Amino acid sequence: MHAEVIAIGDEITSGQLLDTNTQWLSQRLEELGIRVLYHTTVGDEIQPCADVFRRAVARADVVVATGGLGPTADDLTREAIALAAGRELVLDPHALKHVRDMFARRQRQMPERNERQAEFPDGATMIDNPNGTAPGIALELPREGVGPCRLFALPGVPPEVHEMWHGSVADALRQFGADRKVVRHRRLKCFGAGESHVEAMLPDMIRRGRTPRVGINASKTTIILRITAEGVTEQECDAAMEPTIATIRQCLGNLVFGQDDDELQDAVVRLLRRQNRTLATVEWGTAGMVAQWLGDAAEGKGLFLGGLVTTSAAALHDVLGVDQQLLAPHSATSAEAVAAMARSCRDRFGADYALAVGRFPEFDPTAAEPNPVFMALAVADGVQVKSYPFAGHPATLKIFCGKRALNTVRLAMLGE
Ligand code: ATP
Ligand code: MG
Repeated sequence: MHAEVIAIGDEITSGQLLDTNTQWLSQRLEELGIRVLYHTTVGDEIQPCADVFRRAVARADVVVATGGLGPTADDLTREAIALAAGRELVLDPHALKHVRDMFARRQRQMPERNERQAEFPDGATMIDNPNGTAPGIALELPREGVGPCRLFALPGVPPEVHEMWHGSVADALRQFGADRKVVRHRRLKCFGAGESHVEAMLPDMIRRGRTPRVGINASKTTIILRITAEGVTEQECDAAMEPTIATIRQCLGNLVFGQDDDELQDAVVRLLRRQNRTLATVEWGTAGMVAQWLGDAAEGKGLFLGGLVTTSAAALHDVLGVDQQLLAPHSATSAEAVAAMARSCRDRFGADYALAVGRFPEFDPTAAEPNPVFMALAVADGVQVKSYPFAGHPATLKIFCGKRALNTVRLAMLGE
């Protein structure tokens, strides 16, 4: 059973409004075991809208649309569906009562225009919208040679979409036996190698037709392996995914830092807790990003002692007592200076670990050899300094450096 999700409105096609309804509905459809094959977005124009519905009904078994059910002239969804289905619009007295009652409850006079909201393509049923005026439309359309297409049109306002989905649409789809299957996803997160490198470390599992399905993608320099299983119960899906997850973990070792919603800082904080250690930071280039991540980590309380954000050598000397001699020539761009930052930070905060991120070097995309950025981790018996070529897209470099810094702590705690 395949679905198409349609978003209607000039606000969306013009880029003024981000279409979150399609994302939300696609997740809900997947949970019911209905694979979403198409997303379509169309502006407020009757013919294009009708064409979109016509095509969707022909190629999808379930169609869910949002937007354009209001009373104004640019709200054309009901007309478009009627046109696509070749049905007349007829006034539904029950729906008219709902719209009238809605206005009465708000102690407002109902404008005549709003009567339109009680018109439905012949044969359609109304979907209750307890907190809005526009009722939704449910319509089953027979098709030649295949089963009928089930079409649902909901208003655009997200909270109304959610309420109507849970109140009516999900149940209706379940009645058609849509939830014979459940779909579960797990995500394994890796840091420290590129996408293709990670793929090459795995046996041939990222391919079409494999069950459970394994996909790979990169999000802000974190590599995510997404495992998907379908089954009758959640337990069945989870059990089916276990061997795949175990294989991936075995092949990738410490490249894997967490699962599902985990971020690197969560992995670091977990290790700090387990090993009963504390951490402090001093950042120049990353401007406090690492400290913010650690501060936001759910279990970080009492383990992350604090961080200093600086963009001046004078502050490093005054606040942390870093030797001015070290800072003067390059202002925290040398290995020695960043090592001294980490060491002083560890002393001042009284932490077990201190992480320092140096000043970012000048970014020169034409240079044959990019300048290095330095990071240092101070521990009880010394300082470990790492340097990375400062190359890549400027917009992602900061995040990449922040994550690399956290990963340095993580790997040190894992004994690497
Ligand atoms: P109304 O009766 O409120 O006019 P409607 O069914 O006509 O409802 P629209 O006019 O298309 O819906 O959209 C109403 C509001 O809902 C939009 O201004 C926007 O804030 C929000 N909205 C519409 N479509 C989407 C979408 N795809 N994703 C997120 N929000 C949306
Ligand atoms: Mg509207």
